[in-house]
Amino acid sequence: LTDINLLADEYLRLAYHGLRAKDKSFNAEFKTELDPSLPKIKVVPQDIGRVLLNLINNAFQAVSVRSRELTPQPPQGGVEYQPQVTVKTMLSDTPSGAGGIQITVSDNGPGIPEEIQDKIFQPFFTTKATGQGTGLGLSMSHEIITKGHDGTIELESDTNTGTVFIITLPAK
Ligand code: ADP
Ligand code: MG
Repeated sequence: LTDINLLADEYLRLAYHGLRAKDKSFNAEFKTELDPSLPKIKVVPQDIGRVLLNLINNAFQAVSVRSRELTPQPPQGGVEYQPQVTVKTMLSDTPSGAGGIQITVSDNGPGIPEEIQDKIFQPFFTTKATGQGTGLGLSMSHEIITKGHDGTIELESDTNTGTVFIITLPAK
């Protein structure tokens, strides 16, 4: 059985330190809100770890993009912007009504335009520059969550407030 809270915390730190090591100007904040009453569940930990790492890396990349857009460029100035990525866990029913857990990865990045929201889970779909993204992260994540773990992965995104990816996993 796997402690999803531990896994989430571990992969958030891993992603954060990895990105900071590559980019000293990286100034994103990260937060966790992990429900201590979460039950341990039966998953393939490396697979759920890969999903978390991909969602978290996407989120950090998204806020970095927005940060570069909004950072004050003298003499025009700019908007105050604190890039932020949050991982939350909570008890939740799965869509089928069975007991489960929910993991959300939120960012206050540029959001995902409505027109591409139905494409992002397709293999090789990427908006990143050549060499920056393979477009495989979300399709792999979708496979792992739905086929591998009988769960769901959905998103809510808005070009003003950012993006939330929502995973539900049955607790069984
Ligand atoms: P990659 O990261 O290699 O581009 P993914 O499958 O992980 O591939 O993501 C596909 C696309 O979905 C990204 O190129 C990006 O356009 C969009 N996307 C994913 N996560 C976010 C996010 N948190 N904020 C904005 N866009 C996102
Ligand atoms: Mg990715």
